[in-house]
Amino acid sequence: MLKINNVSKIYLKGKDKFTALQDVSLEVEKSDFLAVVGPSGSGKSTLLHLVGGLIQPDSGQVLFRGNDVYKMNSKEANRYRTKNVGFVFQQFHLIPYLTVYENIKIAETESERKNGKIEALLEKCALLPLKNKYPSELSVGEKQRTAFVRAIISEPEILLADEPTGNLDPENSKILMTLIKEFNEDGGTVLLVSHEPETTNYATKIITLRSGKRV
Ligand code: ADP
Ligand code: ADP
Repeated sequence: MLKINNVSKIYLKGKDKFTALQDVSLEVEKSDFLAVVGPSGSGKSTLLHLVGGLIQPDSGQVLFRGNDVYKMNSKEANRYRTKNVGFVFQQFHLIPYLTVYENIKIAETESERKNGKIEALLEKCALLPLKNKYPSELSVGEKQRTAFVRAIISEPEILLADEPTGNLDPENSKILMTLIKEFNEDGGTVLLVSHEPETTNYATKIITLRSGKRV
């Protein structure tokens, strides 16, 4: 599904160069739930953003089904970001002036539009009674489940989750992780970045980063 070959990423911090990732390689199979663990600042988010097509690597390749994500034409790249991958972030990133339903609706792609699909997913995630509420009226657990539904509404092949439980209490973490696990069991690939050891209980594979290197 994904092949990451010797990727490196260097950031400029003022005038200094800082190597956030160095020569990292990994392979992700379709059935994988891969957890990327490591201390804060070890390059986990950078790796996830590289896989998501959000930042260009300085060297190396990210291959999705054999296609280099950073050599795609704009149409393919757009398709990759909107259909092949879905993102869940620590900080929800819901649009504040849209309701739960509208936040999800705008992420839906034409080809996947099916009547009642949003409602069915809202029901599964215990959000249906909240569909007309605004993000500010939701608990953190409800916000993150809304972000999760938004991420999977277009049936992406890969779910990229960046510290998704970072702002949740243990109970809401468990509910969210169970939903992510079900996405995986239903055939979706999961890449999860976390520094919370419990989240690795759901993973089928674990890799550790330290100072930008895979250890
Ligand atoms: P993690 O997710 O493991 O906490 P990150 O990938 O977020 O690690 O960050 C790795 C390192 O790169 C950190 O030292 C961070 O400060 C730095 N970094 C991340 N993004 C940027 C950026 N856009 N510009 C400069 N430095 C960055
Ligand atoms: P989180 O993963 O908690 O949402 P971020 O991804 O925003 O956090 O940032 C991760 C790390 O990268 C932090 O240490 C942050 O200070 C650093 N960072 C992010 N963007 C930049 C940037 N543009 N310049 C410098 N450091 C950055």
